[in-house]
Amino acid sequence: MNGAGSSTEPDDLGTIFRRLIRNTGPISLTQYMGESNTRYYASRDPLGQGGDFVTAPEISQMFGELIGLWLADVWINSGKPDYVHYVELGPGRGTLAKDALRAMKRYGLEPEVHFVEGSSALKEVQQEAVPGARYHDDLSTLPPDDPLLIVGNEFLDALPVRQMVKTADGWREREIALQEDAFVFAAGNRPMDAAVPEDWRDAEDGTILETSPAQAAVMYELAGRLSDQGGAALLFDYGHAELQAGSTLQAVRGHQKVDPLAMPGEADLTALVEFGTLARIAQSREVCWIGTVEQGAWLQALGIDARTQALSQAAPHHAEDLRAARDRLVEADQMGALFKVMGLTGHGWHGGAGFGS
Ligand code: SAH
Repeated sequence: MNGAGSSTEPDDLGTIFRRLIRNTGPISLTQYMGESNTRYYASRDPLGQGGDFVTAPEISQMFGELIGLWLADVWINSGKPDYVHYVELGPGRGTLAKDALRAMKRYGLEPEVHFVEGSSALKEVQQEAVPGARYHDDLSTLPPDDPLLIVGNEFLDALPVRQMVKTADGWREREIALQEDAFVFAAGNRPMDAAVPEDWRDAEDGTILETSPAQAAVMYELAGRLSDQGGAALLFDYGHAELQAGSTLQAVRGHQKVDPLAMPGEADLTALVEFGTLARIAQSREVCWIGTVEQGAWLQALGIDARTQALSQAAPHHAEDLRAARDRLVEADQMGALFKVMGLTGHGWHGGAGFGS
């Protein structure tokens, strides 16, 4: 509580978490990560050289253009329905949407634009890039009828994860506690064995399993929409194919990895996306999972090399930059292999280039 004469500045999140933990006990990692990222994104534009991290659409216009091309292709394959909506989850600066919409327009596809975005700071930047976009806090308010063309880049990895840790007394939730003034991980009191897949029940002490109920919930809703309304989705994120042991939680600030517990709300917290679970959720809702492939392979299948060449010929003084951007997006030792893309098509929708036969 603020006493008379004290500052009216709102407390930083670290102070709020410390008070909460002292008063009521440790908090779950899910709560810690959810609140930290909400605070982090609400107050800043973290993207680009001057920010904390750089994303694919900010590296090159080719990323968004090839996504636009993919969407136009499935739309044409599916009989060019008159009314479709472009939906982007966590559109950042709106760069991907702007580039994708420009590419789609060349094929006669001009969908209404919907952004699912939580950050007021980023909404301002997005409105400059894509005037007229409609806003949603989550997927529940998206239009209920027409097909949806859904895109997300580095959206799922920002949603909170839950971790379980195996202790001598069985599985426990991994929580955040206090040691003096510092946040530390601690195993919770309640037995959590039932929340761990059977194969993992007898794992070695210290084993950590990470899941994301929030990612699963988004996928369930998104797949339900594609199933009912038709359309397609492309979801890009760094991640792996199946559930693996270990924590993938990381924090980035000023392009450097930092301790995820050091400054809640002041660094970007992410975790690897586990695409296998997401694909099974989509399939359980009768959506066609076209595949999950490495970003580099997908971009090459969509023609990024030809596009790099064409742009270089049109602007020879940019050829070197274009080549470097292409390499950053495609090469396995850069973003090409760790980042994956998952493709989905809904009821009555066909095609989907770049996922193999
Ligand atoms: N797609 C963009 C930005 C990635 S950063 C790009 O590739 O550049 C993550 C984005 O997701 C930001 O726009 C952030 O504000 C948004 N976001 C994160 N968590 C969210 C949540 N729970 N609900 C809505 N938007 C969220």
